[in-house]
Amino acid sequence: MTDIRTLETDVVVVGAGPAGSSAAAWLARQGRSVILADAETFPRDKACGDGLTPRAIAELTRLGLGDFLAGRARNQGLRAAGFGQVLHLPWPGGSLPNYGGAAPRLVLDAAIREVALAAGATAVEAARAVDVEREDGRVTAVIFEHEGARLRVRANTVIVADGARSQLGRVLGREWHRDTAYGVAARGYIDSERSADPWISSHLELRGRDNEILSGYGWIFPLADGTVNIGVGTLATSKRPADINLRQLMDFYADNQRDEWKLSGAVQKPWSALLPMGGAVSNVAGPNWLLIGDAAGCVNPLNGEGIDYGLETGRLAAEYLADRPSDFTNAWPDILREHYGLAFSAARRIAGILTSPELLRLAGPVGMRSRWLMTIALRVMGNLVTEEDTDALARVWRTVGRASIALDHRKPFS
Ligand SMILES: Cc1cc2nc3c(=O)[nH]c(=O)nc-3n(C[C@H](O)[C@H](O)[C@H](O)COP(=O)(O)OP(=O)(O)OC[C@H]3O[C@@H](n4cnc5c(N)ncnc54)[C@H](O)[C@@H]3O)c2cc1C
Repeated sequence: MTDIRTLETDVVVVGAGPAGSSAAAWLARQGRSVILADAETFPRDKACGDGLTPRAIAELTRLGLGDFLAGRARNQGLRAAGFGQVLHLPWPGGSLPNYGGAAPRLVLDAAIREVALAAGATAVEAARAVDVEREDGRVTAVIFEHEGARLRVRANTVIVADGARSQLGRVLGREWHRDTAYGVAARGYIDSERSADPWISSHLELRGRDNEILSGYGWIFPLADGTVNIGVGTLATSKRPADINLRQLMDFYADNQRDEWKLSGAVQKPWSALLPMGGAVSNVAGPNWLLIGDAAGCVNPLNGEGIDYGLETGRLAAEYLADRPSDFTNAWPDILREHYGLAFSAARRIAGILTSPELLRLAGPVGMRSRWLMTIALRVMGNLVTEEDTDALARVWRTVGRASIALDHRKPFS
């Protein structure tokens, strides 16, 4: 392939998912020249449960997407079912909104990207980043495959937001450690008469066709448009890989939920994917480049949510870059550790234990019998302990995190 053209910009953001679009929006609002490039053409779909935690709602509202959210599904908490119990656990509120939401990624991601473009970022679509050019260790340009030719984007700063597999991150030396728990999940859409249900539902006792218990959970997230997002997810490590046909399991799960959720027809648009979790990624920054969102392994190890982390790390990157730092290599992983290190360390340790179905069989019924324990689990699993929170649970969770990170042989983001 020959070069067809070269573009010049201050910042190039690779990947226009929630992380990349958030970073591009906040940087463009600072008045910086930003190119926001993506391998796909928008609107584009993405394997996801479409669930928005209160933390994601807060971040979307901050971006100015309040009106968008007003027209979408809204939920008041989690209905957790399993081991003979059903618990309704309201979102705790406090420093975050007391409601969550849900929006298909096809429309959500397009809306966030529009915010970035409205702020002044320039879009380049159907451009897959494949390589970089360097000078004295710094990246001077990102090379894209674009419309059958090569496109060079010269930039002072490169933000890598290209998702779980992070093709460009790998070029830059990113390493994903699968000995730490990661997620394997599948989602689909199905018609439901309960599409306006005000609770998102998780089934914590996930069983296979032989009634065997599996270390994972099933979810149904109502979308208030006649459909629900349905899915199954499990945790795995390189020692305990997930040996499950997820799409078959999702169909089986849907069949089990048909009567209760008044489901009709087949599961549509099935899509499965892997999720790096808990910051189990090394080399998240270099002199003038940094990784955000899934590319940096910013996904909650206990429930697989990553939209809020994507949005937050996009904003944090923009705030960090506002001071025009000269070398990001150590500073960016330090910032990520400061915000997420304690919680990720503790959560991925617990997630590693949960990869054992035997343990789940013992712990599940005990946990589900206690509303108190499940309320705690919801707050921790939902990433709803904020840095401002000073209540007893927040303090205990941080203490657990400190103990866990002290024991880590490889700390998050290192
Ligand atoms: C089955 C499943 C269910 C999930 N459910 C939830 C949920 O309910 N709630 C939640 O909060 N999170 C959920 N997650 C996690 C969530 O989807 C991710 O954490 C989130 O999408 C991360 O955003 P991102 O911007 O980092 O990456 P992405 O959303 O993956 O965006 C990356 C972008 O980069 C582009 N790209 C990739 N490679 C290149 C390249 N080489 N060049 C240019 N562009 C490139 C892609 O086209 C894409 O647009 C789920 C994940 C899975 C797999």
